[in-house]
Amino acid sequence: MEPNTVPEPQLLCDFCNESATAARSYDAAPLSMKVDRTVVYFCDSKWAACPVCAQLIDENRWDELTGRSYALWLQGETELGKSPDFAHKQFMKTHLTQLHQLFREARGRTA
Ligand SMILES: [Zn+2]
Repeated sequence: MEPNTVPEPQLLCDFCNESATAARSYDAAPLSMKVDRTVVYFCDSKWAACPVCAQLIDENRWDELTGRSYALWLQGETELGKSPDFAHKQFMKTHLTQLHQLFREARGRTA
């Protein structure tokens, strides 16, 4: 038998993708969004947020939240040795902006 090397499932922040050990969870209605021509559904109505993102959410600092998510995504890509081109970066910015906008709206629908 192989030793069990499956790592513990790590909770990641749903906003910036950082490890979210002290995460807060936010309830939101299930939502869907269009990515290119594909509709992606987020059926998970729990969103984890690391302490930094949680603070930005609580204080309604959405531009900063999107900026943080984008910066950390770009940093992750760079660490993987990738260099996303302009179109890919623009796509990601738009994607994150839309996602956070949807989250804002979905949060309101659970109340
Ligand atoms: Zn975060």
